[in-house]
Amino acid sequence: MRQLAAVLLMSIVVASPLVAGPDQPALAGYSSASNSDERQWESKLQAIPSPANQRAYMQHLSARPHHVGSPYDQDNAEWILARFKEWGLDAHIETFDVLFPTPKVRVVEMIEPVKYTAKLEEPAIAVDPTSGQKAEQLPTYNAYSIDGDVTGPLVFVNYGLPADYEQLDRLGVSVKGAIVIARYGNSWRGIKPKVAAEHGAIGCLIYSDPRDDGYFEEDVFPAGPMRNSNGVQRGSAMDFPSSNPGDPLTPGIGATPDAKRLPIKEAKSITKIPVLPISYGDAQPLLAALKGPMAPEAWRGALGIAYHVGAGPAKVHLHVESNWDLKKVNDVIAKIPGSSAADEWIIRGNHHDAWVNGAEDPVSGQIALLEEARSFGELLKQGWKPRRTIIYCAWDGEEPMLLGSTEWVEAHADELRQHAAVYLNTDGNGRGYLDMGGSHSLEQFINSVARSIQDPESRVTVWQRRQFKEIEDAKSAEERKEIRARADLRITALGSGTDYTGFLDHLGIATLDLGFSGEDKQGIYHSIYDDFFWYTHFSDSDFVYGRALSQTVGTAVMRLADAEVLPFDFVDQADTVQKYIKELQKLLTDKQDEIRERNLELEQGLFRATLDPRHPTVEPAKEDVPPFINFAPMQNAADRLMRSAERYRTASSQAQPKLSSLDPATLSSINRKLMDTERALTDNDGLPRRSWYKHLLYAPGVYTGYGVKTVPAVREGIEQKRYAEAEQEVSRVAKVLEAEAAVVDGVAAQLELLGR
Ligand SMILES: [Zn+2]
Repeated sequence: MRQLAAVLLMSIVVASPLVAGPDQPALAGYSSASNSDERQWESKLQAIPSPANQRAYMQHLSARPHHVGSPYDQDNAEWILARFKEWGLDAHIETFDVLFPTPKVRVVEMIEPVKYTAKLEEPAIAVDPTSGQKAEQLPTYNAYSIDGDVTGPLVFVNYGLPADYEQLDRLGVSVKGAIVIARYGNSWRGIKPKVAAEHGAIGCLIYSDPRDDGYFEEDVFPAGPMRNSNGVQRGSAMDFPSSNPGDPLTPGIGATPDAKRLPIKEAKSITKIPVLPISYGDAQPLLAALKGPMAPEAWRGALGIAYHVGAGPAKVHLHVESNWDLKKVNDVIAKIPGSSAADEWIIRGNHHDAWVNGAEDPVSGQIALLEEARSFGELLKQGWKPRRTIIYCAWDGEEPMLLGSTEWVEAHADELRQHAAVYLNTDGNGRGYLDMGGSHSLEQFINSVARSIQDPESRVTVWQRRQFKEIEDAKSAEERKEIRARADLRITALGSGTDYTGFLDHLGIATLDLGFSGEDKQGIYHSIYDDFFWYTHFSDSDFVYGRALSQTVGTAVMRLADAEVLPFDFVDQADTVQKYIKELQKLLTDKQDEIRERNLELEQGLFRATLDPRHPTVEPAKEDVPPFINFAPMQNAADRLMRSAERYRTASSQAQPKLSSLDPATLSSINRKLMDTERALTDNDGLPRRSWYKHLLYAPGVYTGYGVKTVPAVREGIEQKRYAEAEQEVSRVAKVLEAEAAVVDGVAAQLELLGR
């Protein structure tokens, strides 16, 4: 369900050869002997994926709506299974029984000062052949909204985030007993009803403002790619960041038929108030009927109205009810057994379920995955034997909230802790620049892969194109300098919103999330218009970026699967941790300065003196200045990690020529330790108040959802004014960094013996 960030188009016409040549250095983790073999297999692999095949797969998989529990969802799972088998892979379908609510009652009506009944309907469009498949389409709704029938005054809350409610307080507007209307964007959608409920609201509407993904950006569908006035973003509103993703009734365990299930009313991740998404066609009359203070300038969208906040006089009736049924999810799992290190697993996934036809989300990523699997099938016939076991996963139930992947991870947790080396995820694809996110121990590795793939438009490597784009977009000379000077492009830390969450955050498996984006805008996300017609008119219409994604992820999978020693590196990781510590120190200092300044303004009477009596505002409350926090334990631990990381880097490069002489037992013990490096960053007690999340460096933010919070317990402690907790968490993070350094030292010592 990942929504791709839209960035401006850039064109490059620089020719530079791909990294190639007889004297190129050995790949990390490879002996010189295996290096040249690997290079050959990789170039064979990269020649196989076909845009025409991907187009055909997309046409098939997106031909009908295929949400969880629908007939075509089942058909697609069986079709994918048949392809895996046809290509010679050992494949099966694994099912789980999950709670998946579907709409029963949906009513939004304004009863004062004028009557308006929302249409809540996306009409078929004549030129778009699949948009008319009404009988099979899920109506527009937010899954896991609690049932409710409420009436109250309406309040516009911008994106509905905590800072927006601080502004409402200044305007003297309360949402107690009100129904809020928030616009989509800037956070995971489930945050909006959650924050509204925390402030006393009784219902929540979420609409797509044309400023965010409509005509403010480009022409609307079908003339252009953007959301038209009837388009609605469906989506899950499950409060997974404060509890857990996956089936709400079986937190922490696989949703097998005999699993012990919570009663629905005890499920923590269901919303506290009813919520429903609407189009801007339906939102406009409601917003136009609001009075009260003008919305702050940054809140105003692109509708031709004066944006007021309310409350009222618009009064709204909202009624939502769901069928709370258990449905089957069908995960399709395919295995390529490893030769000499079969008990080390490289896992690759993308979901296959969609909200409706889902050509972009998820099929554009799924078709790349399928071409990788077909390519590996071909290479197996030609004699390629991966060292490690490779597992390909087409997940079901991602859209409701990572149901298929989370249940699989929970059901196989022990084996995965034992065997999983790396998980690689995609979730959709488009034209543009390679997005690289993941564990920072894989930063150097994925940079090396990006240097091996040619960009289909510019003919430079996808790494080079990404670097140029970052230089072009850099906000300061200092930033540009770093991008040019640093050997590796920085990868982004992972939050959530797609299937890697269970692997990374729950089990501590090193993870990568990849995809191309940045050249095409889209406003069809989770609507009936995300279909084959849209994709082949407004996105990667010739599927050359689909091929590039197969080449990129396929190469990454192969390179990870074949290396004698897993190509992890910890210098970038240690460097990133040091950067996080600086950010946290600045976050605290900024907060202290801000509160000190505001307290001074209050003492001086600034707010009263500057008040406009015709547009009155409420004085903010005086607050205690945040105390200083001792970051030293984390700084010392990060310092130690850097020393261990440098030691490992030296040891591994000195050992590299001798890797081929290593006996299987030594190799296995080295790789075992390397697999443990990501586990070392987890703590079984988990994060405060959300113990399902065990990783102490990365987590989705409690108030962002998709957006990552790095060093989450410390960062959110400061952001949410729990300073004592933040300080305690500093020592817990220091402990896992020390543990990480110890594991890295252990492998370094083993390699040093060999290097001598
Ligand atoms: Zn998706």
